[in-house]
Amino acid sequence: MSTTRLILLGTKGGPRPTPHYRGQPAQVIVIDGVPYVIDCGSGVADKLVLAGIKLPDLRHVFVTHHHSDHVLDYGNLLLLAWASGLKSRVDCWGPPPLVEMTRLAFALNRVDIDVRIADEGRPDPRALVFAHEFATAETVMQDERVRVTAALVPHGPMKPAFAFRFDTADRSIVISGDTAYSEVVIALAAGADILVHEAIYLPAIDRLLARNPNAATLRRHLIDGHTTPEDAGRVAAAAGVKTLVLSHLVPGDDPAVTEETWLGEARKTYTGPIIIGRDLLEI
Ligand SMILES: [Zn+2]
Ligand SMILES: [Zn+2]
Repeated sequence: MSTTRLILLGTKGGPRPTPHYRGQPAQVIVIDGVPYVIDCGSGVADKLVLAGIKLPDLRHVFVTHHHSDHVLDYGNLLLLAWASGLKSRVDCWGPPPLVEMTRLAFALNRVDIDVRIADEGRPDPRALVFAHEFATAETVMQDERVRVTAALVPHGPMKPAFAFRFDTADRSIVISGDTAYSEVVIALAAGADILVHEAIYLPAIDRLLARNPNAATLRRHLIDGHTTPEDAGRVAAAAGVKTLVLSHLVPGDDPAVTEETWLGEARKTYTGPIIIGRDLLEI
């Protein structure tokens, strides 16, 4: 019997490190024991280990888009999996320039890699990792465990930006990625068991902007490129999903914005089960 597990690894949006417990965007779907990582915010390798995933088991990595909170540790995840014993193939999937980023990540760490190959007898990681790019909505990959479908979502000038749907034998899971309210997500998530949707709480924006003093047009980005929890509930209801999970919370570090805050907003528009994301929460 097939088993599909979803584990949230990082549940705050944005790259700015904070002293609070939410890490940067990442999640892993484990299908029959095989991990499929979606997004690689800072700390993703540590979070995978904390979640009980063995890094050498890494098999597939997906990237929704190239904002740094989603790819800061893309190369580091590959390198750390290799340093932890990786000796089998890894396929990475995402928008351009993922192929060049993969090559550059290995170039950045060339000294370490070459010394460890010669000194420690490790295999060459550059021969284990294969990056694949796509720029349109399509079935991105399919194997014996899962079919992964991508949809183009609106996320300001960040183009392309993708949402992903994972259909396995026992579950369907949609990851919205970063997106404004979108009919595209509704269509992608139609009838899904789980929709993991990003959310921004607009009443807290002024306090958030005060913590980002060098970003003159950040307010416009936050409002135009993201989705309120009320609208995320609207998407979940229109798509008829069985469970809504709010993650990529913005702000993810404001003690005045509690789980009850997020829940109350999404509850206005969606009557099904709602889970407010927490790092390392398995769903
Ligand atoms: Zn983001
Ligand atoms: Zn983004």
